[in-house]
Amino acid sequence: MVRYSHIMAEIAAPTSGLETVRTEITRACRDAGRDVASVELVAVSKTFAAEDIEPVIAAGQRVFGENRVQEAKGKWPVLQATHPDVKLHLIGPLQSNKAKEAVTLFDAIHSVDRASLCDALSKEIAKQGRTPLLFAQINTGAEPQKAGVLPQDADAFLSACRETYGLTMSGLMCIPPANEAPGPHFALTAKIAKRNGLKLLSMGMSADFAVAIQLGATHIRVGSAIFGGRH
Ligand SMILES: *Cc1c(COP(=O)(O)O)cnc(C)c1O
Repeated sequence: MVRYSHIMAEIAAPTSGLETVRTEITRACRDAGRDVASVELVAVSKTFAAEDIEPVIAAGQRVFGENRVQEAKGKWPVLQATHPDVKLHLIGPLQSNKAKEAVTLFDAIHSVDRASLCDALSKEIAKQGRTPLLFAQINTGAEPQKAGVLPQDADAFLSACRETYGLTMSGLMCIPPANEAPGPHFALTAKIAKRNGLKLLSMGMSADFAVAIQLGATHIRVGSAIFGGRH
């Protein structure tokens, strides 16, 4: 009996994080007076192998986030062959010379942040006839080491995306500074999106997705709370 329950716990383990996150999303939506369907959970599977990802797919999760084109290319085609309805989001920085592969692989790109990348993306989108959802990344904390457009440059950047490069931008993404309360950064991102007529907000990670939902996040990017710590 003892042995058996031990085995059951081992079997239950791989998706207990996902269950907890789903419960917390439901609670945060209720607190915010929002429909659960208005928040897309992007399960961030970077660094995790196909065998760690499979149980999460089996538990019904269909949207996954990766931060590197190369890593995604190595592990997802096989998983997508058996689960063609899985969607992939690129959440990490993108080099212009990888725009081609990114447009092929991803259904959404959360890290559009400079003219040269817009140029490369617009050419690939035209060539491939694929139209990934595009988010402009805003560096709300103006951190020098972090990617993203500065808040004061956001309106001009978004106009250039549309007018110069013909891109359809759908939303904004931000990663608040690690040592600050995330709320003001989420609020600023929401404000910039609103005045630019953008509906989608990619914000909130394992530690702060409930706050992000409160402030209007439509896409939360959650890794360690689902998959456990990264090595
Ligand atoms: C890794 C990563 C996440 C997930 O972070 P967790 O704290 O593990 O939830 C979210 N967004 C981006 C851009 C990331 O690189």
